[in-house]
Amino acid sequence: MTANHSSGEKILAGQTAIVTGSSSGIGAGIARELGAAGANVVVNYAGNREGADGVVRRITEGGGRAIAVQADVSREEDVAVMFRKSISTYGSVDILVSNAGVQKDAPFVDMTIDQWNRVIGINLTGAFLCAREAAREFIRRGPVPERSSALGKIIFISSVHEIIPWAGHVNYAASKGGVMLFMKSIAQELGPQKIRVNSIAPGAIKTPINRSAWETSEAEADLLTLIPYKRVGEPVDIARTAVWLASDASDYVHGTSLVVDGGMTLYPGFAAGG
Ligand code: NAD
Repeated sequence: MTANHSSGEKILAGQTAIVTGSSSGIGAGIARELGAAGANVVVNYAGNREGADGVVRRITEGGGRAIAVQADVSREEDVAVMFRKSISTYGSVDILVSNAGVQKDAPFVDMTIDQWNRVIGINLTGAFLCAREAAREFIRRGPVPERSSALGKIIFISSVHEIIPWAGHVNYAASKGGVMLFMKSIAQELGPQKIRVNSIAPGAIKTPINRSAWETSEAEADLLTLIPYKRVGEPVDIARTAVWLASDASDYVHGTSLVVDGGMTLYPGFAAGG
């Protein structure tokens, strides 16, 4: 985990954010930055209670407010309970960051139905269940203009693999491609109610999900051939973008995927070829 680089500005004061899968990696970074920006943070975890407690501790030690809430985002009842706990603790929810995601990689012809269903269930159905619950809560609560211009904000953590096909990871790429059109469709539907919906599409970020791609210097050098900016990303790169997208500073940004990837989607092979 990287250092907290927040500016100390409390631009999200009084707002409550749920960050799914925030006991590690990008979600943990986002939870910490949202907490530093003044939001009450619900640190959701599936099984890693210790990780979630550590993130809560970091936020509260910095003067913020946070609780850890267990829920498997692929289960409808778990998601409902997570929202009920968040609302009973902080009064409402203003920001959802749908971040929980997994990879279950296999060559296509060997991929099991369980590998397919697990990835779609968490990455896509989980995004649906959490976003639906968030939108229902925003509408139930109604506008609070002194907190935010929007009725609520939904941010999906997608991936450059909503754009870049990925052999050997077809379940993951399908789930992220699905998140892209799901995000745009609900943005179209919920915009008139002032619910702001966007995605962040990260490139390669150093987290447990892709440890083998960066933990040795050979692997990292290989990975850097795909990144024109010649640096592997850190969770804080995504976290700062999430704070901005959750704040009124981005109030006219709606229905878009913000690619944060050091240029991975610039077809780097064409720098010398083509
Ligand atoms: P990570 O493994 O550290 O984070 C994934 C988190 O999701 C974990 O905390 C995990 O416990 C949680 N999770 C898994 N199943 C869950 C469930 N059923 N319910 C609730 N939480 C669950 O890896 P990460 O890189 O931080 O991944 C976060 C998100 O970022 C994922 O959606 C991933 O697809 C996306 N992403 C990561 C990268 C990268 O390079 N690391 C790039 C693009 C997109």
